[in-house]
Amino acid sequence: MPVKGHVVISEAYCKGCELCVGACPQNVLRLSTERITAKGYHPAEMTGDGCTGCNICAVVCPEAAITVYRQALRTRAAAEA
Ligand code: SF4
Ligand code: SF4
Repeated sequence: MPVKGHVVISEAYCKGCELCVGACPQNVLRLSTERITAKGYHPAEMTGDGCTGCNICAVVCPEAAITVYRQALRTRAAAEA
């Protein structure tokens, strides 16, 4: 069953190290160029759809700043079953 995900990044913890950006296999993370955290970092943010909820970004984040949410998408076949 297809899975769609999204992440919530805590700007209170993110230090803009960019590890999650390089680790994301879907390339849906980047550092914000417009926002700065209270500690003075450009925080990570999502760039759009495509997140699969694989959790890799949360695992590599040294600050445990990322929470991953996964949503299973019901296929037509599954919905009609
Ligand atoms: S959960 Fe996976 S696909 Fe989604 S942003 Fe994190 S690394 Fe990328
Ligand atoms: S790995 Fe964590 S601390 Fe580093 S940029 Fe990503 S969310 Fe921020």
